[in-house]
Amino acid sequence: MAGAARGAAGGGAAAGGRARGAGARARARVRAGAGARGGGGGGGARRVLAEGGEFALTVCEATGLVGEAARRHGTAPTASAALGRALVGGVLLTAFKGEGEGVSLRFRGTGPIGGVTVVADSRGFTKGMCGDPSADPPLRPDGKLDVGGALGAGALSVVRSNNSLRGDTSAPYEGQVPLVSGEIAEDLAHYLAESEQVNSALGLGVLLGRDGEVREAGGFLLEVLPQCSEATLDQLEQALSEMPTISEMLDEGLGVDGITDRLMAGFPYRTTGELEPRYGPCTIEGEGGLRERMLRAVTLLGEEDAYQVIEEQGQLEVRCDFCAEKLQFGRDEVASALDTHEP
Ligand SMILES: [Zn+2]
Repeated sequence: MAGAARGAAGGGAAAGGRARGAGARARARVRAGAGARGGGGGGGARRVLAEGGEFALTVCEATGLVGEAARRHGTAPTASAALGRALVGGVLLTAFKGEGEGVSLRFRGTGPIGGVTVVADSRGFTKGMCGDPSADPPLRPDGKLDVGGALGAGALSVVRSNNSLRGDTSAPYEGQVPLVSGEIAEDLAHYLAESEQVNSALGLGVLLGRDGEVREAGGFLLEVLPQCSEATLDQLEQALSEMPTISEMLDEGLGVDGITDRLMAGFPYRTTGELEPRYGPCTIEGEGGLRERMLRAVTLLGEEDAYQVIEEQGQLEVRCDFCAEKLQFGRDEVASALDTHEP
């Protein structure tokens, strides 16, 4: 029995960009988490390459990262699942890319959550926010959290910056696709197929405990590389169709290595990278840091309004939408910023 534990699970998706045009095939089998287990700690990410270079697999366990994001934003269960899946997706799309490379994912929809935005970089630092953190529509008829309903109909925009693979690092690469289901994994796989011509299988899972806390979060991205043979593709599709979902593997307590072994399904491989995905709050101090950017925003309020708030509240507090960090500014600091930034 699943007991009272709330399964916020996951959504897996495989997008077929292959020549015979399989189209996006959702494997959104999802199940409620069974019983409560202590909220998992940190996490890890690992990228492996199949021998012969026919496909690559990135596996990520990011319970700590997703838990911190949910805590900072105070998300309701459905919003936790939506934000968590998007955060893991951000890690999978950009971890192990070139130095300084980053990705931003922007899901926008007509549903109650409004949107989910995630920014991730190649070192695994990831942060995100959602439009309405209290969004928690009724469960689906099958008892699962309704992430697709929370997001509604809309679009996914992806921006890759400093894309070393494309040679030109000056201009960011941007792509946009309509949302397929709003379940996040399927939408990201669809984006990869349509916009980057990458045939992939992508699974994302967020399991919540009975109090709505993040118990497990993780995912995988299997990318078919150009030299992959038809025979290997067939073998992969067969293996993936028989595989448990990412949520099931997380729920079993399989870590990054265990999930990698399962997904590689007997294919020989070697590890090409490992890192620890972390919640990356904005840098606060220093040039380009949060304090500097917020002070600039404060000066845009205008002298009169800024001083009025300080008069009434003793200080001026600004909250970053992304990391929920709050900074307070006193009269002197605001005065000197107004001096500096005045034309
Ligand atoms: Zn921030």
